[in-house]
Amino acid sequence: MTQHKLSQSALHVDRGEGSYLHLRGGRKILDGISSWWVNTHGHCHPKIVEAVREQAGKLEQVIFAGFTHDPAEKLTRKLLNSVNHSFQGALKDGGGKKLDFVFYSDSGSTAVEVALKMAIGFHENKGEKRHKVIALDGGYHGDTFGAMSAGSRGVFNELYEPFLFDVKHIPFPKQGGEARSLQWLEKWLAKYGSETAAFVFEPIVQGAAGMRIYSSKLLNKMALMCREAGVLLIADEVMTGFGRTGTMFACEQAGIIPDLLCLSKGLTGGFLPMGATLATKEIYKAFYHDDKAKQFFHSTSFTGNPMACAAALASLEIWDEEPVMERIKAIEECHVKAAGWYAARPDVLDVRVKGTIFAMDIADDVSGYLSGIGSEIYDFMLENDILLRPIGNTVYILPPYCIEKEDLERIYETLWRSLDSFRNEGFQQAA
Ligand SMILES: *Cc1c(COP(=O)(O)O)cnc(C)c1O
Repeated sequence: MTQHKLSQSALHVDRGEGSYLHLRGGRKILDGISSWWVNTHGHCHPKIVEAVREQAGKLEQVIFAGFTHDPAEKLTRKLLNSVNHSFQGALKDGGGKKLDFVFYSDSGSTAVEVALKMAIGFHENKGEKRHKVIALDGGYHGDTFGAMSAGSRGVFNELYEPFLFDVKHIPFPKQGGEARSLQWLEKWLAKYGSETAAFVFEPIVQGAAGMRIYSSKLLNKMALMCREAGVLLIADEVMTGFGRTGTMFACEQAGIIPDLLCLSKGLTGGFLPMGATLATKEIYKAFYHDDKAKQFFHSTSFTGNPMACAAALASLEIWDEEPVMERIKAIEECHVKAAGWYAARPDVLDVRVKGTIFAMDIADDVSGYLSGIGSEIYDFMLENDILLRPIGNTVYILPPYCIEKEDLERIYETLWRSLDSFRNEGFQQAA
């Protein structure tokens, strides 16, 4: 995601602590995007450091076929508990079934690949030919081929388009456009419902599309329609999971439990690479068979890596031991206040907040100078020792939950000055 010919040399990070990255030479950078959305409790949280250190001295890695170990078993119990506790309300309201099984892999992309393969295999093993997949337009699910196929097509994967499998994309339900999305889905299900294996979506917030937020009520409707047609729900909570949108999982807000839940990024607190695909008993049972050919064929060499499991377990325990949800609420309150100020700016469009995510679009029609505004803002913020990495003209803040209020305010304030400086330059140019 970097054009080397056009970019400066990379900054050299020596260590991390809390919301800060410490560079070689002593400079400190405030991490306003949780190191690409992975970090939850801050860099080098002592509890996770200790858990990984201890595990590393005991068992670093072992084959996870025919063998098991404490960190994996403890994590699995804890993770399923946490997930099913979060989905209690949805379970009562008929939003889905409990998630009882976990498949470990090593990234968000592989968590999605595994979910796609499980969905396709599920129907196949039950003797149903369902060879179509639908997804929400604008989605991002990773950069492996299955994940790219499910994701939106654009400059990032244009080159590979001929090699991607066909996925039909539901028009994105932008505010006011919900009816159109529903109609599309209704028509699709009427025609191809029995041929469709799965619906893949990022619940409530599409991250890479530019922190696009859509209605949780609408997602609930779409999910129930799919379910009625036997279409499996694959929720990609790789970004939204673990508190990012204000609840432990974004699906909670839509009152649904997916059949397959993809997790990664915040799973280990952003400490080590790990993916998890959670599934219902029904899906597990479709592969449970006397016939070896019906098993779920997928291997990840580092599946269930003991150190990654230990990090994830420690991260989940931090949720119990520290007031993480309160921190999230406090960030949201700050964001909402700042959103009020920013909404009054003529050069800012569509300021939005969801949990710990603050996002807005910068009007790029003020003057030609403002196109490419994202990288200008990146530079300006970095000069002020803050890491933000806008997506096109969308600027967003997605901080670690441990961020101090003063640090958050410094981000709003610096960003404000950054926009002022471009406006002034733009006006000067126009003059
Ligand atoms: C980041 C992301 C992925 C891909 O995860 P990787 O670990 O980078 O492979 C998938 N889905 C969503 C929603 C993401 O934000």
